[in-house]
Formats: sequence, C-alpha cells, structure tokens
Amino acid sequence: MPTDPPIECRRRFGRRDFLKRSAAAMVAFSTRPAPQPPAIDPSRVGAVLADFRRFGGGDDRGTTRLAYSDEDLAGRRYATEVMRRAGLDVSTDLAGNLIGRRPGTDASAHPIIIGSHMDTVPGGGSYDGQVGSAAALEVALTLADHDIALGHPLELIIFQNEEGGKTGSRALVGRVHPFELDIVTASGFTIRDGIARLGGDPARLEEARREPGSMAGFLELHIEQGALLEAAGIQIGVVEGIVGIRRWNVTVRGAQNHAGTTPMPQRRDALVAAADFVRAANEVATTVPGRQVATVGRIEAIPGAPNVVPGEVRATLEIRDLEMEKIARVFADIEARARAIEADREVTVAFDRFYESLAAPTDPRFRDLIEAAAADLGYSHTRMPSGAGHDAQSMAELGPVGMIFVPSRAGISHSPDEYTAPGDVARGANVLLRAVLALDRAARWQPVDRPA
Ligand SMILES: [Zn+2]
Repeated sequence: MPTDPPIECRRRFGRRDFLKRSAAAMVAFSTRPAPQPPAIDPSRVGAVLADFRRFGGGDDRGTTRLAYSDEDLAGRRYATEVMRRAGLDVSTDLAGNLIGRRPGTDASAHPIIIGSHMDTVPGGGSYDGQVGSAAALEVALTLADHDIALGHPLELIIFQNEEGGKTGSRALVGRVHPFELDIVTASGFTIRDGIARLGGDPARLEEARREPGSMAGFLELHIEQGALLEAAGIQIGVVEGIVGIRRWNVTVRGAQNHAGTTPMPQRRDALVAAADFVRAANEVATTVPGRQVATVGRIEAIPGAPNVVPGEVRATLEIRDLEMEKIARVFADIEARARAIEADREVTVAFDRFYESLAAPTDPRFRDLIEAAAADLGYSHTRMPSGAGHDAQSMAELGPVGMIFVPSRAGISHSPDEYTAPGDVARGANVLLRAVLALDRAARWQPVDRPA
C-alpha cells in the first residue's frame, strides 16, 4: 500500500521534484482499488434457505412448518447450529424466541436487532419469513468471516409463531393477553404448550417484555408478498411502514318478504342495498388519491333462501392505509355513501367496528439508510408500504425499525407457489448487511415517540 513520503524526505527534493512525485503518488492512489465493504455469500445464503426445507418441506415447492410443531423445533435446532457457526451466543427467551447474540465493542450501546420468522401457514411457501431468517443468519456469518467488530451488540431473533398472530414479537412488547395462551394453534398445541415446547416459560411470559428505547433499531428483510416490485422490475423495496387496519361488521336491514308476491317497486331488499354498498366501498377506495385499500370480504344474506327477499345482510368492511387518519377519512366517505343507499333503498346500514391494528411507520432515517445501501450496491429500489403485518410492527414499539422487501414472483404468498429468485435473496441479504453496518456507524439514535 503506497504511503505519502515522510516529511523529512520531502525536504530533500526541490519543489518541482516534490510536485512530480506527489502527482505520481496521486495516480497510484487513484488506481488502487477502494477497499470493498464485505459482501454476503450468495451460495451460502441459498444453501441455508434450501436446508430449511428439510424441516417441513413438501414434494411441491411448499413448506408446512407450523409454529410449535416438530418441524418448527427441528428447524430452530438447525438455525441454532448456523448461529453457532457464526459465533453467536444462542439462547431462547421466556417467550420462546430463538436469539443469537454477538457482543459489541461499546458496552453501553443498545443492540441492533435483525431477524424474522421461520414458521409457516399450513400448506405455505418456502420463502415467507424464511428468506429474512436465512439473510439474517448470512449477515452474522459474513460479519464472522471478516472478523468485523460492531460498536453495538447484535441480536439475531427468530420470532416464534408469527403466522399465528406474531406471538413472539408481541411478547417482547407485553401485548400477549393471558387468554391467548389457551388458543389452540394450527399445530394442535395451545400457545401455552407451544411456548414451553420451544423452551420458553408461559408462566413468566411478562418477563420477556423489553423496555421501549432498549434497542438501537430493528431491521427485517422479508419477501414482498405482493407483485409491485416484480411488475415494476425493481429489485429492492424500501418499506415505508406496515399499514394500519380497521374492520367493521356492517348490517344492512330491509324487509324480509315473499319472493313471488312482492312486486319489485315495493321491495326493501337488503341484499340489493348491500350490493350497492360493496360497489360504493370499492369506488371510494379506488377514486380517493392514495394507496389505501378497502375490502368487503364476507357477506351473508338472511334468511338466505331462494324464495325469500333478504331482510338482512351481514357483511364486513376492512380498510388499510399507512395513516390511521386516512383510514378514518376513507371510512367517512364510505359511510356517506351508505347514508345515500339508505335513502335510495329504504334500508338501514349500521357499522360496528370490531378490530383495529395501528399502522407502524418505519423510521425515516432507516428508510434513507436502506435506500443508500441499495443505491451503493447498484440495485434499483422504490419506497412502498407493507400491506401485510410483520414482526417489525411489534418491534416498532421498542424503537426505530426498518424493513427491506425483495420481489415475490407473481405476488404469490402463503402458497407452495411462493417464490423469490436466488439473486433477489442475495441482493436483499447484501442490503441488510450494509444497513446493519451503516446503522452501527450512525450515532446512537433516540427512539422515536410512538402513538399510544
Ligand atoms: Zn412473514
């Protein structure tokens, strides 16, 4: 590696000689390759992802690795081995989350946390959660390969039971209600028994809770589960946040009557009014500027007989957006359309809100950092919301979070046909690695204030 000549040396040359030599040194400097930041090993992350399929992989491309099942336990034992290969100190917390830790050089620094989940839905794919878990393991392996010391401690978490309601990550923020422990999951085990099977302690679940401000940040890589990136031919999604959700039961009441003897003008058909409502909700969500979505996903006519004019319809309405106020505004518009339908069809339309999940915006600084990482690597990128829930949503209560999306072929997820190309997995893992390194270099950011 060329170095500047020492000062004493320079004095022995005339000014012209010195300039000539300096110019030569500069040429030498500029042609020397810049030190390359470390990169992940694409074949290794691909091999880990393929190995996951040993635990619940089917004859199709799919995987069924239900939370708390034998396959889940075996998959986590495998992840434990990989964590140990990366030199991580592995443990299971009281909530049953699998955690690998790596010390930082600054004892006072809060940890940077990365990770995702490995459990799947029944008949699920081999990428949801698993790409993020394999990539997080690959980041730890790469840090170990290059013997990179981070200032912050690093924690790699494989969250338990994401698909069954984000139990593991919600336990970290104290949001698992006692009644949930009795829920029988798809594996056949209750959440209580499942936590015990994973090595946690359901009786001491509250002790798994962490304090807001106790982490430097959380980064999760995940497959998009939508088709936006693929359709646009873009390699990396910089997630702006996880959308909030509100759901209502909608009851339309008209008059039940004989389908043969009630003339058309005299009908107060609740199902015809409900049809107007379904169309109205769709029109509002389509025409209001923005990326909100509204869905009537369930509908039931009462009494539900071929020869009876329906007197009542029970339906649901769901609206999602990154901003809760936007959801409220879209709902107000849909409600106004419902009032017009009431007058038009001589029915009543009642709304009863039964579910709310708050939007979890990612930290703006994390978006910048992920975007810069993608740009440095020469990957195309775009900002986008996440329409699906993720563990990052829970982690946002502890501090700043960021999410990276990679393309899902045809937007298919929760299906054996779920697929993300190896190149996309590798690109995502490289962005995750760069983002971890950048976050480590950044000042110790204060956690953002979160809405209660
Ligand atoms: Zn997932």
